[in-house]
Amino acid sequence: MLHMAEPLIHHRSPEFRAVMERVNANLGYLFQTASPVLTLTCSGTGGVEATFVSLFSPGDTVIALNGGKFGERWLHMARVFGLDAVEIRTPWGKAVDAGGVEEALRAHPGARGVYLTHSETSTGTALDIRELARVIRENSDALVCVDGISSVGALELRCDEWGVDVCVTGSQKGLMIPPGLAFIALGERAARAVGRSETPKFYFDLGRALRSRESADTPWTPAVSLLLGADASLAMIREEGIENVWSRHERLAKGLRAGIKALGLTLFSDSPSNAVTAVHLPAGIGWKEFNGALKSGSGLTLAGGQGEYEGKIFRIAHLGYFDELDMIIVVAALERALAACGFGFGRGEGVRAAQKFFLE
Ligand SMILES: *Cc1c(COP(=O)(O)O)cnc(C)c1O
Repeated sequence: MLHMAEPLIHHRSPEFRAVMERVNANLGYLFQTASPVLTLTCSGTGGVEATFVSLFSPGDTVIALNGGKFGERWLHMARVFGLDAVEIRTPWGKAVDAGGVEEALRAHPGARGVYLTHSETSTGTALDIRELARVIRENSDALVCVDGISSVGALELRCDEWGVDVCVTGSQKGLMIPPGLAFIALGERAARAVGRSETPKFYFDLGRALRSRESADTPWTPAVSLLLGADASLAMIREEGIENVWSRHERLAKGLRAGIKALGLTLFSDSPSNAVTAVHLPAGIGWKEFNGALKSGSGLTLAGGQGEYEGKIFRIAHLGYFDELDMIIVVAALERALAACGFGFGRGEGVRAAQKFFLE
């Protein structure tokens, strides 16, 4: 990613406009949409904030799925901006089913939007966005708003075909570049909602971003070097082919899960995401001890649990720049750390199961 170390070009120059034109076209491919995808200079959370302030007005009802840290964040954020946010709560590690969403829409027929977290990173849980979008569209006029921050470029997602109105991602997840950019796919119905919103906003006004985009521009100075990186990573995704990117993530996740199960460990989620795998920490092993053994034994960084699952689960990211050998190394590192913590398992069985999956 040495593109980001190149001398900067001016953001109102023809050279930069050419970069933005390529980025805009490749973002449409990434999100599988013919509608505009906007680029904001902020992290993914800023991208979601831009959707709340640009699409809705105080007093509007939105439904938010809360099955983990990020779903919870959007529920709170909606309330900060004066929206009447209806919560659908699901236990961590479980995916909401379409029936629950249909019920909420019946109880709140005027809902203007439904916020769904495609891959809930705190629990490693994936939602069936295709089915949920279908149910929302059939039962309401609510906009289908997807937090795709850890799913875009990892899990299958077809905005236009599935009827997703709004989808947000961030540069540091599936796009494989440092944090600092948010990308927002905005369908036609969402673009119309932008014109009706009365929430105060300035920097995060998607109406301005839409107007600037007509001339391959951004309203404010963008993070130019990150955009040079995005230009390169989007070209990589285009070259591999989005379907191949999705199936690579599926294979990596499945091979990793095979290795984990062969060690006698259990997955946390009923509906595991192909971007991140959450695993129960075996009884009797502390997270600090296990994490320390991972770091000193293999130099591997995994994430612990959040909220009430702190110390109870650990999470392995496998979205973006990963391949099959990386997964085998992760399983090998888990074996070493588990052995160091005195956990009983068939030595080498995890690596064997993962290798076998990939070779068959
Ligand atoms: C990382 C992440 C976020 C937060 O994104 P920031 O870039 O840290 O603001 C939100 N939702 C999901 C699902 C994520 O994985």
